[in-house]
Amino acid sequence: MAKSSTTPMMEQYYEIKKQYPDAFLFYRVGDFYELFEDDAVKGAQLLELTLTHRSNKTKHPIPMAGVPHAAVETYVNTLVEKGYKAALCEQLEDPKKAKGMVKRGIIQLVTPGTMMNDNPNYAKDSNYLTSVVTTKSGFGLAYSDLSTGEIYATHLKSFAAVSNELLSLRTKEVVYNGPLTDKDKDFMHKTNITVSKPIQLKGKHAEVSYVEQKLTSGAEKEAVKQLVGYLLTTQKRSLAHLQIAKSYEVSQYLQMSHTVQNNLELTASAKNGKKMGSLFWVLDKTHTAMGGRLLKQWLARPLLSTNRLNHRQEMVQALLDGYFTRENVIDALKGVYDLERLTGRIAFGNVNARELLQLAHSLQAVPVILDALNQSDSKTLKDFASKIDPLKGVAEMITTTIIKDPPVLTSEGGLIRAGVDKQLDRYRDAMNNGKKWLAQMEAEERKKTGIETLKVGYNKVFGYYIQVTNSNKDKVPLDRYTRKQTLANAERYITPELKEHENLILEAQSKSTDLEYDLFVKLREEVKKYIPALQKLASQLAALDVYCGFATVAEQNNYCRPSLHTDNQDIKIVGGRHPVVEKVMKAGAYIPNDTHMDSDTDIYLITGPNMSGKSTYMRQVALIAIMAQVGSFVPADSADLPIFDQIFTRIGAADDLISGQSTFMVEMNEANDALQYATKRSLVLFDEIGRGTATYDGMALAGAIVMYLNNEVGAKVLFATHFHELTDLDKTLDHLKNIHVGATEENGKLIFLHKVLPGPADQSYGIHVAQLAGLPNKVLREATKLLKRLEAQGSELGPTSKQLDLFSASSNDDDEQEAAQDEDDNEPEVSSAEKDVVDEISNLYLA
Ligand code: ADP
Repeated sequence: MAKSSTTPMMEQYYEIKKQYPDAFLFYRVGDFYELFEDDAVKGAQLLELTLTHRSNKTKHPIPMAGVPHAAVETYVNTLVEKGYKAALCEQLEDPKKAKGMVKRGIIQLVTPGTMMNDNPNYAKDSNYLTSVVTTKSGFGLAYSDLSTGEIYATHLKSFAAVSNELLSLRTKEVVYNGPLTDKDKDFMHKTNITVSKPIQLKGKHAEVSYVEQKLTSGAEKEAVKQLVGYLLTTQKRSLAHLQIAKSYEVSQYLQMSHTVQNNLELTASAKNGKKMGSLFWVLDKTHTAMGGRLLKQWLARPLLSTNRLNHRQEMVQALLDGYFTRENVIDALKGVYDLERLTGRIAFGNVNARELLQLAHSLQAVPVILDALNQSDSKTLKDFASKIDPLKGVAEMITTTIIKDPPVLTSEGGLIRAGVDKQLDRYRDAMNNGKKWLAQMEAEERKKTGIETLKVGYNKVFGYYIQVTNSNKDKVPLDRYTRKQTLANAERYITPELKEHENLILEAQSKSTDLEYDLFVKLREEVKKYIPALQKLASQLAALDVYCGFATVAEQNNYCRPSLHTDNQDIKIVGGRHPVVEKVMKAGAYIPNDTHMDSDTDIYLITGPNMSGKSTYMRQVALIAIMAQVGSFVPADSADLPIFDQIFTRIGAADDLISGQSTFMVEMNEANDALQYATKRSLVLFDEIGRGTATYDGMALAGAIVMYLNNEVGAKVLFATHFHELTDLDKTLDHLKNIHVGATEENGKLIFLHKVLPGPADQSYGIHVAQLAGLPNKVLREATKLLKRLEAQGSELGPTSKQLDLFSASSNDDDEQEAAQDEDDNEPEVSSAEKDVVDEISNLYLA
């Protein structure tokens, strides 16, 4: 950065900018925040500001772009959402009173992980700042949402596990003390994660010892310390709302990689990243933002503990049975604001009187909720209620201090009720008396001068004045009035008495606003003492909100309460449905399906035409399992489920944009995850594995994977395949069962039954599906011809040679040869080595 100016102000600017080289520096000058130099050039472009120049007369004009101070938050948020950081540099003293240069300093560094967005669209999203430290034995990881103050910490063995947590948490910024390999940097870049260096904390801070008090692991403590250090130094204030850090182990929850969560569309649709079409979309019937955020957290971390799940189910059951209780609770919850974030704002010191009232109103809803719960017949609900402290005193303290409809600004008075403070009442009396005196004077002066339109008015520059229109100017008693200001059609005057009273009024007014502000701050500080209690209450209300939501969803969609067992891994679902697919279909159109996997059945090998519903069926089982493990009821007539420890998926063929790997590589990585890490207690979904490579090695791999899963892993596996050859595996693998999704043909048209039936599918109906897709008739006719001949040969050669023959045998018919040739272009050639593989597999299957 060229120091092109040496005015004292710019010197101060450069001095401060030096300390924040990687942030946009918003430098307060009067009513504006200015960006200078490169910040201005880049900021003008990103924020669509006009780029101007300072010291235009000098040889090196300095690029400059400004934003009005009242709008700075919007601009800062825009930059930070794009992944940048912004430092707010304030005037630290009143410019009027300053001697020489006004003192300035950074009051806050806003970063992607510390941004608090008040936009209601983000109310149900958490924004986690994550801190990662390297230790001898691995990594410590801690994360926090600054707006709520919650903190979690864990330790992990590998960077892969760390990256997975970062993705699962949708972290936008990570504070990391270690070196990054090029690969890691690439990962951070592709996933839009800003990596920040830790900032060392100077001195002791009460927050650190408070939040880390329950941690035992050194790695976790380090990570938390680094996290809090970063928060304190960027926010530059005390953070009384930071909560005691909770230690967790990834293995305490149902583990799913970030990819699995995405594939199963738990919180966002895979198509467009939106809520619509996700499981969250179906389950989210919450009425508070905190409830929405909590539900998202639950979906990311389903439980393993039957006790905890039973408790959640009990709550849902009680609210489902108690319709009126639930309705009353929901009605009251609708009046509860975002207590978690309000509490954060109180700690931050930027809460205004309106928000304090929101807090009070939220608290006033609590006794109503407690009444509803206590009047129900359910012991579970009563027990839940007995643990809630409604913090009546806090609500009272606020409502008796703040007026009913206070202004947004806290600095201009008009917020405190009469009777709260004697001194304030006295000032107000003085102001009122003064104003009464003014009204009296106006009336008297009208009489004395005979000017009916004479008016007493006030403006900021001249204070109180007497205004007379030009037409009455000659009646003004100039012996008593002094002219102060001339307007186009009127003159303004003052008198000594007027000024005397003005002094009294203004003094009272200024003292009273100051005092009101002091009283407001005192109230805020008093409320601050209740932060931990408010946070506890907020989390209880959030959970209650989710339970009510689960009950509502269960009722509206006819869900059942699943029973959970830990002594075996049998799955028994009767009339199971896919919660999202059934929701987007006409009522009753979804065909329910059963799943019975006992100790003799670990693998369901699923065949059936494309579009018949294989993938939907597999997902339905996984979603039902996840719903059960978050405590929700499930879309089925009945469900008896084990508690799964992990879920693995290999679904679809979407390219993994994040890792930049080929489809097939991603497919193999995901398969590898399942083969390496799945246990007997895991659930594995494999959809069309082996599709991304040549037919024969694809089939070979798929076959070998099924065998490995059967012989070595013992997890519950749903394996959909288009390799018909694999269906023979049931002869050799004792834990594999064939099922298929039925379809029939009527007048040459394919009808999908969407019904899961025992045994393998007899046809794959590929040509019918192609017909549905609208392929040219010529292609369909050729394909049918080829298929007929193939089937004739197939009966002689055995099932595995089907495709082989399809592309090698059309030698004597020219037409057919051409058609086959076209196909050949897309299909890998079959080498003799591949033929060997096929022979080997078919031998294996038939053995
Ligand atoms: P596949 O995996 O066999 O190609 P999908 O699972 O993608 O098929 O299902 C294709 C479509 O069939 C789904 O989008 C859905 O509209 C419909 N479908 C699937 N299962 C059912 C069902 N049980 N009842 C009704 N419609 C279904």
